[in-house]
Amino acid sequence: MSEKKNILDLNLEELKEFFISIKEKEYRVEQVFKWIYQGVTSFDEMSNIPKELRNILNDNFSISKLTIFKKYVSKVDYTKKYLYQLIDGNIIETVFMKYKHGNSICISSQVGCKMMCKFCASSHLGFARNLTSGEMMDQILATIKDTGENINNVVVMGIGEPFDNYNNLIKFLKNLNSKTGLNIGYRHISISTCGLVDKIYDFLKEELPVTLSISLHSADNQIRKKIMPITIEYSIDKLIEACKIYTKTLKRRITFEYILIDGLNDSKKDAFKLVKLIKGLLCHVNLIPVNDSSDLNIKRSNKININKFRNILLESGIETTIRRELGSDIEAACGQLRRSSLNKYKTGDIIFPLNEL
Ligand code: SAH
Repeated sequence: MSEKKNILDLNLEELKEFFISIKEKEYRVEQVFKWIYQGVTSFDEMSNIPKELRNILNDNFSISKLTIFKKYVSKVDYTKKYLYQLIDGNIIETVFMKYKHGNSICISSQVGCKMMCKFCASSHLGFARNLTSGEMMDQILATIKDTGENINNVVVMGIGEPFDNYNNLIKFLKNLNSKTGLNIGYRHISISTCGLVDKIYDFLKEELPVTLSISLHSADNQIRKKIMPITIEYSIDKLIEACKIYTKTLKRRITFEYILIDGLNDSKKDAFKLVKLIKGLLCHVNLIPVNDSSDLNIKRSNKININKFRNILLESGIETTIRRELGSDIEAACGQLRRSSLNKYKTGDIIFPLNEL
């Protein structure tokens, strides 16, 4: 196992400091970054960097630390799911999706998750560790390399709670947006959180114009507590108060994610309660038919109820969409990640098995 630091964990200033410490010219930093974000995985490929410097970099850093463990390609759309293996053997999942308006990637922010949402597969396996900012970036670079495609949109909605890995997340976002990095505009980045209220206030202060998604899933504290334990710490009122301040201060719309679970949060009463809670807030509601989650007796609402729910919101003037599902045949949909990596794979097309689980 390599002890070298992952150069993707560094931002421009940090690499500059290193260059100053070895008495190297500062302009070389940008040259090195350019190579890295063009996807090279070895310093030897950096042809305009003197050999001596390449050797120093090689002695101190590695570039990519992810390897493809398995790759699944959907038969019904262009979705690809990657199981990437980290340097310590942990496995994370990344999903590549093709839309008319561009390519999106859904990345993981942690190995596992502490939030214990009842419907979510990522929670069931517990929490191992945070990902570094470089490991978040590496998912994108490795996927660009393997697909040969550009990435237009990044969503931090894979395994983990991004606001529970706050500092690494912020560093990653800034590196992702950097002109010497992949230069992805903040407006093309979305973060999804289950609602760590204190962190929403911290995030507000960063003034990054990304899209913030809140996994709300119920407008009723009792129901939400049953499925999302985080509600015990932060009530819905506290969460919505933070959202109001966020939208007012940044003038940016928030997306509320709302999974529809049969008999739990999908009645007309639930819809009216949601309207009352968020009416007047600068927002958009994304309804998600819940994906079957193992043994939990969680059932997807039927189409009629989903449409009724949507219509109540629309008639109340709340912009609402129903999420299109991609990659459903390879368990690449929301809330299905990672559980499958530890079970036997039953669906999808294994086209690149490097190893057996
Ligand atoms: N921890 C973050 C991001 C990861 S989950 C969050 O809670 O937002 C990404 C999205 O998938 C969230 O909206 C989450 O609620 C949703 N999700 C989790 N399990 C799901 C399931 N079984 N079906 C549909 N969506 C699910």
